[in-house]
Amino acid sequence: MIHYTLACDKAHTFDGWFRSSEDYARQEKKGLLSCPVCGSAKIGKGLMAPNVATSAEEAPAGGQVLLGEREAHVRRLLKEVRDEVTRNAENVGPRFAEVARQMHDGEIEKSSVYGIASKDEVQALREDGVEFHPLPHIPDESN
Ligand SMILES: [Zn+2]
Repeated sequence: MIHYTLACDKAHTFDGWFRSSEDYARQEKKGLLSCPVCGSAKIGKGLMAPNVATSAEEAPAGGQVLLGEREAHVRRLLKEVRDEVTRNAENVGPRFAEVARQMHDGEIEKSSVYGIASKDEVQALREDGVEFHPLPHIPDESN
């Protein structure tokens, strides 16, 4: 039997016993190893994963983690919505107001489009009862 100190990608360390180094390599390759603390299957020999120690040291205190995760979660959701819209829609750029109005008036076939519109254009579209929704704004991108 040989002994390795193993670590997962969340920096939990634990002991692993193997028949041989080949046995360890085989289990690692097949993804049979998992962290007893968090269940992560990203396992490496402790000493061979220097980035693990770094990430553990840099983890911020409790309150900040919660806030950070919540923000990251919201940002992810917004991004998913945006990605969904932009994946299935045509980018008409500055012609958005014109195209939206044409669809509303039945001049062209309705489809999913997105683009940019000025405040005045948005106002005019709203007054004319044209249905559209603003794309979610992602805080990251405004910087
Ligand atoms: Zn773990």
